[in-house]
Amino acid sequence: MTVTSEKAVQDLLIDGTWRKAANAHTYTAHDPFTGEVASRAAAAVPADVVRAADAAERAFPPWAASPPAERRRVLWTAAGNIEARAEEISAAITTEMGGPAAWGHYNTTALAEKFRHAASAVHEGLTGELIPSEVPGRTSFAVRRPVGVVACLIPWNAPALLVGNSVPYALAVGDTVVMKAAEQTPRTHGLVAECLIEAGLPDGVYNLVTNAPEDAPEVVAALIAHQAVRRVHFTGSTRVGRIIAQQAAAHMKRAILELGGKAPLLVLADADLGQAVSAAAFGAFANSGQGCVSTERIIVDRTVAEAFALRLAALAANVTCGDPRDPHTALGPVVGPAAITRLSGLVQDAVVAGARLLAGGTAEGPCFTPTVLADVTPAMRVYREESFGPVAAVVAADGPEEALRMANDSDYGLSSAIFTRNIPLALDLARRIDAGMCHINGTTLDDEPQIPFGGVKNSGYGRSGGHAGLEEFTELQWITIEGPEPPRYPISE
Ligand code: NAD
Repeated sequence: MTVTSEKAVQDLLIDGTWRKAANAHTYTAHDPFTGEVASRAAAAVPADVVRAADAAERAFPPWAASPPAERRRVLWTAAGNIEARAEEISAAITTEMGGPAAWGHYNTTALAEKFRHAASAVHEGLTGELIPSEVPGRTSFAVRRPVGVVACLIPWNAPALLVGNSVPYALAVGDTVVMKAAEQTPRTHGLVAECLIEAGLPDGVYNLVTNAPEDAPEVVAALIAHQAVRRVHFTGSTRVGRIIAQQAAAHMKRAILELGGKAPLLVLADADLGQAVSAAAFGAFANSGQGCVSTERIIVDRTVAEAFALRLAALAANVTCGDPRDPHTALGPVVGPAAITRLSGLVQDAVVAGARLLAGGTAEGPCFTPTVLADVTPAMRVYREESFGPVAAVVAADGPEEALRMANDSDYGLSSAIFTRNIPLALDLARRIDAGMCHINGTTLDDEPQIPFGGVKNSGYGRSGGHAGLEEFTELQWITIEGPEPPRYPISE
C-alpha cells in the first residue's frame, strides 16, 4: 500500500503486508510549524509488535542463508529507490518535523549512502580469523554470524538518515529487522519502508511498526521481550536509553545505545577564529540545534573569548528562521511547544545567573531564534543540560588544560571538536577528551557511513556504522576441526 493523500493512514508493515493495528486504532502527528495534521498512522499495540517479531523470526533463516551478493543487490537497489523518492521523503520530513528542504535532502542523500556502504560490506561483516591452535593438527577459526532479529528504534530529528545507522547494517549481515518509527515521523518512516520493500526484500525481513506516543512504553517493552529479538539498537534520549538498557539486560540482550550529547567545541588562543566561528555556528544552529552531535558548549581561550562571541553573535543574527517551506529559510521550527519552554527556561536561567545574551533567546512562533550566550559558567543549567535547540553557550577558559577539564566536566561524551593550529597539542587533547568522536579544526556535527559513530558516558555505548557497526549485529563463534591424529582425552575408550 502507498499512502497517497494526507487523509490516508500510514499502516504497519508486517510480513510483507500493510496492516491496520490489531485494535484498528490510529493516532495523529502534527506539523510543528503550522500545527495542522501532518500524518495519521496505525497505533500499534504489543500484539502487533509480537506479530512483527514473529514474522522477522520466520524470515531470518533464509535471509541469513542468502548469498551475500543477493543482499548487496537489494540494499543497493534500496539506495536508488531512496534517491528516486528523495523529494517525497524530504517533503514528509518538512511536514512532520519541520526541517527545511536542505535538511530533508541531506537526510535522503546520507541514507542512500549508508545503504550503499552496507551493501558493499556484505562480505566484510561476516569474515573471521584463523587462530593458531595449541593442539597439533587442529584447524581453529572464529567466524562472525548474524544474530537473528534486530529491533531498531529510530528518532524524529534526522528521521531518514538515522534509519541508516542500524537497518542497512543489520540487513547486510543477514539479520532481520523490526523497526519502530518515531511517533512524530511515521510517514517519513513509511516512505523509507516502501523504498526497502520495493527493492525486493523478502516478506518479513524488514517490518515497520508505528505507535501512539502514550503506547511507547508497552510497545517497546514487548519488542525487547520477544524471544527472537537478539539486539536492540536505540537512538534517543539518555532518560529512555536507561530504560531500554535495563530491559535489554533483564532479557540478557545486547543493546546499542546512541543517546544524548552536550558536544564541546574548544577554541584555543591560536585558532583560526573565522573557521572556528563558522564551525561553531553550523554545529550549534543547523537543524535548529536538534542533533545529538550539535555543538552545545563552546569553550574558548579567555584571550579570544570576547572577539569569538561577538563574531558568533553577528553570524547568528543573520541566520533566518521561520517557515521551512520558504526556500530562504535556514532554520525551521523546533519540534514542539515543550522544546520552546525548555529552551526559554535554559536561556532565562543563564541570564539571571549572569550570562550575557548576545543573540536570539526568543521564540518566534514555533521557532527559536539562534542564540548566543556569553560568560556561561558551570553554575548555569545550560552548561550541563542538553538544550537540543539552537543555543550556543560560550564559556571562557584559561589555557588548553582548563578547556579540556571543562570539556570533560559533563555526563555526556558523544562528539567534540578542537580548534588550534598546534596539531600535536590538538592530538594530545583529543586523546584525553571524554568523547566517542573528536574533530580537529572541524565541526562536531559530522558523520560518514564508514566511521564508528557513538559515545561514552551517558551518551551510550556501542557503535553505529563502519566495521564496528557491522560487528554489533553479528555474533563471534569459535569452530575447530581436529586433524588426522584423534585427540587423546583423560577419559576415553
Ligand atoms: P526520547 O528518548 O524522548 O524518545 C525516543 C523514543 O523512545 C520515543 O520515540 C518513544 O517511542 C520511546 N520511549 C519514550 N518513552 C519510553 C519508555 N518509557 N519506554 C520505552 N520507550 C520509550 O528522545 P527524543 O526526544 O525523541 O529525541 C531526542 C534525544 O535523542 C536527544 O537526547 C538526542 O541527543 C538523542 N539523539 C541521539 C542520537 C545519537 O545518535 N546519539 C541521534 C539523534 C538523537
